[in-house]
Amino acid sequence: MAPLIDLHTHSTVSDGTETPEELVATAAAAGIGTLALTDHDTTGGWERAAAVLPAGMRLVRGAEFSCVSPTGRPQTPGDRATVAVHLLGYLFDPTHEAIVAEQRRLVAERVERLRTMAQNVAADYPQLDADRIFDHVPEGTTPGRPHLGQALMRAGVVGSVDEAFAHILRNGSPYYVPKTDTPVERAVQMIVDAGGVPVFAHPLARRRGRVIELSVLADLAALGLAGVEVDHPDHSPEDRALLRGFAKDIGLVPTGSSDFHGTNKSTPIAAETTAPEAFEELVAKASGVPVL
Ligand code: AMP
Ligand code: FE
Ligand code: FE
Ligand code: ZN
Repeated sequence: MAPLIDLHTHSTVSDGTETPEELVATAAAAGIGTLALTDHDTTGGWERAAAVLPAGMRLVRGAEFSCVSPTGRPQTPGDRATVAVHLLGYLFDPTHEAIVAEQRRLVAERVERLRTMAQNVAADYPQLDADRIFDHVPEGTTPGRPHLGQALMRAGVVGSVDEAFAHILRNGSPYYVPKTDTPVERAVQMIVDAGGVPVFAHPLARRRGRVIELSVLADLAALGLAGVEVDHPDHSPEDRALLRGFAKDIGLVPTGSSDFHGTNKSTPIAAETTAPEAFEELVAKASGVPVL
């Protein structure tokens, strides 16, 4: 079997459950030949993954940027509806000042936001000790709702992180606290300026709530967006077909990725993969750091 290409995975440096070292080993065992590490809002796992890279596996250093996007083109002059979205950035210079500053700002805000969400939840679920929410979050990790989901599991409130999301942590829940995400147009520009390659992550993950109109992808393509995740566990077969056709029409590279989070999600690594030609097209646009 040809080595697989999985361009979207998370480690314990954000909300995955495997360390970067374990993730690389899991990827190798699954037949992955090209792995992208894309933790939320951090490049903190890059060196650890690179240090244990086995011969024959290529590492694409990346990150998943927390962004906010218009839902579509404004229909009326005052129309400013927005939605939280994720943007993958690959092979960008990790010392680029704007990226460093924005990641530092977002991680700091995520710490306070998770503390507040934990306090909100603990008011109704006193089994949760909100003061100890960070006990199991390693230093330097980007905290996220799955960490609160884990704490709710340990407290016996839910049986799984999925269940925690369904009942307590979902977007729009009374406990939810928003964060100040980066405008997606600005994030595309930052990644391009840093020599990286921006790819829109899971644009039609409808189970998480409202999604963007496809016109947003066309507008971002004009700013330098290079690709779009087509094959993703949260995309229906109909949406994949729609996205594949749209990507082709507007010249975006289609990717496929597992968005592996270890046991925080049920999807195994390499559940979705990217075609070699698509991957090479993305790499050809990069000038920040090389594929290892
Ligand atoms: P946050 O970045 O803190 O807003 O949390 C978002 C993260 O939670 C995503 O990156 C996913 O890893 C995870 N997530 C979102 N929706 C769900 C869900 N329905 N079930 C399990 N995990 C989810
Ligand atoms: Fe995540
Ligand atoms: Fe995501
Ligand atoms: Zn992800």
